[in-house]
Amino acid sequence: MLSECKICGGSIKNDFINGISICQNCENRWDIEDPEYKEYLPAVEKAKKAYILSYSENASSKDVNQAVYLYKTAIMQCSSKTGIIAKGFTEQCENEKNIAETNLIYLKAKDIFNKEDYEKAVLEFKKVEDFKDSQEYISKCQKLQQDQKRKGLPFNIFIGILFSLILFIFVNGKLNLNIYVYILPFIVVSALLSCAGYKNSTLSGVLTLLSFAMFLPTIVFVVLLYVFHLNFISAIVSAFALSVGFTIAVLLLSER
Ligand SMILES: [Zn+2]
Repeated sequence: MLSECKICGGSIKNDFINGISICQNCENRWDIEDPEYKEYLPAVEKAKKAYILSYSENASSKDVNQAVYLYKTAIMQCSSKTGIIAKGFTEQCENEKNIAETNLIYLKAKDIFNKEDYEKAVLEFKKVEDFKDSQEYISKCQKLQQDQKRKGLPFNIFIGILFSLILFIFVNGKLNLNIYVYILPFIVVSALLSCAGYKNSTLSGVLTLLSFAMFLPTIVFVVLLYVFHLNFISAIVSAFALSVGFTIAVLLLSER
């Protein structure tokens, strides 16, 4: 194996995966033709395939995943060898495997980014923030997340008001006070819920789901309480029982 450049005497760096020795000074290159190196050719073939897969343009997660597997196999095939070439080759494979694993996280983050889940994408990009253009993506995500939140504000206010309305209809069913008593608490609760939904997207999702799930029972409750004059507890229980029964019936009928 070359220890120094044949032309300028500069130091040599060996790329065992691609089978070449490169002068660090004049950048001339030669094939590695050491007999010991030839012993590792089956492992080298795997590593070379992995290298091409992981550095190809538009490499998918599947490609990079396969590359990681191939590097691992190549490393394993040389694990019992102790020569200087085996050591160099294994080190290079480990290094490339780590890069490929980082790339996998990066690709996953990009995938989440494309699905417009910027909150989750930021968390993934932060795991590999020094890799490729992760930093740029982090800034992009933070900006888009703000835009998304701003766009969602009217909806969060709507859900805040709707949920408070449902809440106060049930409270009033029990307390039956003058309507003016509710105005201030209603404004406060609506504002708090709107604000909480705006700040936390998970909470916003839960409130939306609950509001829609409560919609039918609330209407039935109002009818039972004020039209049929059932007492509070009976009206609640019947409203939920009827709504659940109705939903199941609709689902069963639509299945047919
Ligand atoms: Zn040279």
